[in-house]
Amino acid sequence: MPWSFRKKREVPAGLWTKCTNAACGKMAFSKTIQENANVCPECGHHMKLEAKRRVDLLLDAGSFRPVGEDVAPVDVLRFHDGSEPYEQKLKRTRAKGTASEACIAGRGTMGGRPVALAVLDFGFLGGSMGVVVGERVALAAEAALADRVPLIVVASSGGARMHEGALSLMQMAKTSAAIARLRAAGVPYVSVLADPCTGGVSASFAAQGDVTIAEPGALVGFAGPRVIESTIRTTLPDGFQRAEFLADKGFVDRIVDRRKLRDEILAVLAFLAPLPDQPLLETATAGEPKPAPALEPHGKKGR
Ligand SMILES: [Zn+2]
Repeated sequence: MPWSFRKKREVPAGLWTKCTNAACGKMAFSKTIQENANVCPECGHHMKLEAKRRVDLLLDAGSFRPVGEDVAPVDVLRFHDGSEPYEQKLKRTRAKGTASEACIAGRGTMGGRPVALAVLDFGFLGGSMGVVVGERVALAAEAALADRVPLIVVASSGGARMHEGALSLMQMAKTSAAIARLRAAGVPYVSVLADPCTGGVSASFAAQGDVTIAEPGALVGFAGPRVIESTIRTTLPDGFQRAEFLADKGFVDRIVDRRKLRDEILAVLAFLAPLPDQPLLETATAGEPKPAPALEPHGKKGR
């Protein structure tokens, strides 16, 4: 029988996943990629990851308690993007997945230490920041402030949500104000930039971390490279707006492989806010203050 008449071998849908790195494009078992935190086992390319799975990767199992789940978007502008009304788009997006909006926020523990966390979901309307995303990020910051625990935000977003117009832009101010209150209170904030992190999100809370971590190869910037090139009429350098370029220029503190992210954040927190039982720097212990060691008069101490 000529080969063309043979029945095609049935491959169950979703069994294989193709690496989204154009230079790689290798196929791997979807299960293998999932177990590898959506990092390509061949080339190490960091593919997009749902917010819920990020929460599972970062927090201790079963410790997550959401905040702001009841905050829902309102189509104040009765926006229509040319193809469908915003309200309908929201309904359709919700029906596709499990996320109720483009951000999950809440409290939890990480390696046993309490933290507040907000994670943006690029799969939900490009992780765009409307009123709900802004409110949930602000609520996570307020939870961190109330509990005096570190805040961690993982940002992956195309920027402000056009469907909510100026209300989206106001979220930049709201989230920035919430982060400023944390800073004034000395509560640490670790910002994690995942691919892509652009527009109003990169220009507000995502860029305000005490420590800024980026995933390898993440695109981070405000406007796209083509817009910049046509505005300033120059050719941009290779790797422009990629995490590695930004780390080289000092905008990003550290590039961390997603599979090591949890451990790295814990190490950063141990430095920024050591727990009483794991002091990194010599700190005064609670309880009785130790008397200062007596100073010996000059010249008496032997060599
Ligand atoms: Zn790959």
